[in-house]
Amino acid sequence: MAQLIDGKALSAQVLQQVAADVALLKADYDILPTLAVVLVGEDPASQVYVRNKMKRASEVGIGSREHLLDAGTTQDELAQLIATLNSDPLVHGILVQLPLPAQLDEDSVIASIHPDKDVDGFHPLNVGALAAGRDTLVPCTPQGCMIMLNQVHSNLSGKNAVVVGRSNIVGKPMAALLLQANCTVTIAHSRTQNIESLCRQADIVIAAAGRMALVDATWIKPGATVIDVGINAIEIDGKRKLVGDVAFEAVSQVAGAISPVPGGVGPMTIACLLLNTTRAVTRQLACPLEQ
Ligand code: NDP
Repeated sequence: MAQLIDGKALSAQVLQQVAADVALLKADYDILPTLAVVLVGEDPASQVYVRNKMKRASEVGIGSREHLLDAGTTQDELAQLIATLNSDPLVHGILVQLPLPAQLDEDSVIASIHPDKDVDGFHPLNVGALAAGRDTLVPCTPQGCMIMLNQVHSNLSGKNAVVVGRSNIVGKPMAALLLQANCTVTIAHSRTQNIESLCRQADIVIAAAGRMALVDATWIKPGATVIDVGINAIEIDGKRKLVGDVAFEAVSQVAGAISPVPGGVGPMTIACLLLNTTRAVTRQLACPLEQ
């Protein structure tokens, strides 16, 4: 049986570190790290995500401001709010919950956030800095996956890694981080041929396709590490359940280590958002976090 990579337990460790950093910023610099969360419209899943992020923020002592905007908000109205948050010295991180309603252009909204307050790591300058291997604010989900991988592997150098999915928020930054860690990286997507055999050669498989049970045991090399990013909602006996992209039971028999859904990448993503918030403070004020 594969070792379980427990995202809940690991995220608790990350959050403990964040809480210590928050306390230090308060004690040494009289700063309350503060995250502004902007939600446009009433998408139920987005409401749950925003609530969870704000709850965790308050648990580690991070201040939060919630901006709930009408579903009909215009590009100009949103741009004005972001400009205000960009220039507010008491706001250190800005998160605009995606997806946005159709009338809003996501790319220009993301580009309007100050790069040093871009706790999601989606601003083109931060994307470019990551691609160039520079220190920057890194997208939360892949950052969480790296922490999970580092728990299993003392050294990732030279490992063959396959990332299934090439989105801007997960697949591409994941591949960039693995490359930075000296892995040999393959990015697979919906047009990839022989995806099973590519995965079967991998020491590490990151499944981020949003397709339930896409990755099954025949895809996995014995002893490989499997990180399941996918979140798929299904109904069993009238009850809603979340499952990943990996056929968990079957793959657990083959893999060396595996992350579950739920309780895997999800909690790590929120923990990394809060880690990015304290990092954003240090970027804006150039104050080191040393203990
Ligand atoms: P996207 O839909 O933006 O991207 C999915 C990617 O998977 C695309 O690159 C697509 O290929 C590829 N893909 C789709 N079907 C297949 C297939 N059959 N074989 C190979 N590749 C395929 O999704 P995201 O990257 O935003 O998210 C991926 C999953 O991760 C989702 O389930 C999402 O809910 C979850 N997620 C979880 C988070 C967490 O905190 N746990 C955070 C963010 C996302 P192509 O480009 O060719 O279309």
